[in-house]
Amino acid sequence: MTITTRALIDAGEVVPMLIGGEWVNSFSSVLREVTNPATDRVIASIAYGNSSEATAAADSAKAAFLNWSNSSTRYRADILFRAYELIMERASDIGGLLALETGKLLQEAIGETRFSAEYFRWFAEEIRRPQGEVFASEDRSRRQLSISRPIGVAATLTPWNFPISIQARKVAPALAAGCTVVARPSEKAPLAVAELFRALIDAGIPDGVVNLIYGPASAQSNALIDHDAVEVISFTGSTPVGSALMRQASNRIVRCALELGGDAPFIIFSDADIDKAIEGLAIAKFRNNGQSCIAANRVFVASSRMDEVCERLGSLTEAMVVGDPLGGTKVDLGPLIDQSRVRDVEAIVRDALDSGAHFLGGAPEIPDGPNYTRPGFIVNASHDSALAKEEVFGPVSGVFSFDDEDEVIARANDTTMGLAGYAYTSDQGRIWRLSERLEVGILGINHPLPSVVYSPMGGVKRSGLGREGAHEGLHEFLETKYVSIGVDGL
Ligand code: NAD
Repeated sequence: MTITTRALIDAGEVVPMLIGGEWVNSFSSVLREVTNPATDRVIASIAYGNSSEATAAADSAKAAFLNWSNSSTRYRADILFRAYELIMERASDIGGLLALETGKLLQEAIGETRFSAEYFRWFAEEIRRPQGEVFASEDRSRRQLSISRPIGVAATLTPWNFPISIQARKVAPALAAGCTVVARPSEKAPLAVAELFRALIDAGIPDGVVNLIYGPASAQSNALIDHDAVEVISFTGSTPVGSALMRQASNRIVRCALELGGDAPFIIFSDADIDKAIEGLAIAKFRNNGQSCIAANRVFVASSRMDEVCERLGSLTEAMVVGDPLGGTKVDLGPLIDQSRVRDVEAIVRDALDSGAHFLGGAPEIPDGPNYTRPGFIVNASHDSALAKEEVFGPVSGVFSFDDEDEVIARANDTTMGLAGYAYTSDQGRIWRLSERLEVGILGINHPLPSVVYSPMGGVKRSGLGREGAHEGLHEFLETKYVSIGVDGL
């Protein structure tokens, strides 16, 4: 019988790391508690390593690299496909664990788990497509082509907000490409993600090809970046941390794929279908309790529709049910991940309210628990307030009015970030203009959920480097090798 993370927790046992094919405790037996953000109760203890575990995991990944990188694409694809099937079979259990450790709604957690599985299926298929090019040689005595080779050991460093799907979006293409992996998820949500690695082990992946470590972020990331076998850092998280990792990676010229912070504009034009726009905004703002890198961060509304939209947004938030997603009653919004997130969101809100802005509509009832905050939309914040300028990363947005298309494009682009953006309009010409002129890597027009496994996800400006998912995501883990062959007798 397969032992699951849930079974370990229920038995009061420590959730281990995975190094070299073995589930292990930390070398110095250090533990760390994981809590449920809806109640702040301890739900599990994880083995909490340090730089030695990171080095040991990278050593294992290095030892496994030769065989894995030279295995057939069919062999790798079969293992990835089996992992897809196992994650799908286990999605309810894994999703339950994910909801427990993050406070996300259960259906969102199960959805994220299934979405994660899809990455394994998609990359299992994609690696069997042609890779490389044959060039039209200008010289009859030479044949010239490019082939793709796996880059080396990949370090996958991820945040707590979508702990499973962000790891899956890195690990699936890395393995398909022939790389071996050391994964370091956030210590705030380390449980459900372990089940991705268990599925890979159960699917027959050889020892050392995937490794999973827990421990202090900076010490472990530095140990990985400095390890001689690690050739790519695939990081998702905040821009300051991404920048620090990139500086560290410059010492050894290690490739960086960085998915960083967002500041998405959500633009409602005068010709928009307002019902659809409100429905879309509710999803783009409140999905994952507002803690999504592609969340709507600044809402711009055509001045002619401002009163109508504000009234609708006030009613929407006033009617929201906020509470523990696993507490037995249906809720629309759960807690934030922890107190520090609540403090950051509330500081932005206070700054706006102090300067004369106000929430639209009345406040919904907020539970007493420590990690809940008032969701909603705020109007009349000044253009230089934190609400207008910073990533809130919580269930609150500023709403601003605009008069014309050029103005709103300039205001939407007036940020150092450029991850996602949204617009609602029925004007086909405008859709093309927005597609070309909004400075974002991901654009949702008339719908709020642009992310699919075959879409290239990533940002421009300070929102990151490189793309994840799609064919481009595979190339983050491949090197192009150019081969020029002298040919006699032609
Ligand atoms: P964070 O940068 O603090 O943490 C991300 C990961 O980095 C975690 O595993 C954390 O333990 C680790 N980390 C923290 N400090 C570190 C350090 N000094 N050195 C090495 N690693 C370190 O970010 P967060 O608060 O967990 O997540 C929120 C941010 O992530 C937001 O800005 C959000 O927009 C961004 N994000 C981006 C994407 C994307 O796809 N672009 C997705 C999710 C989140």
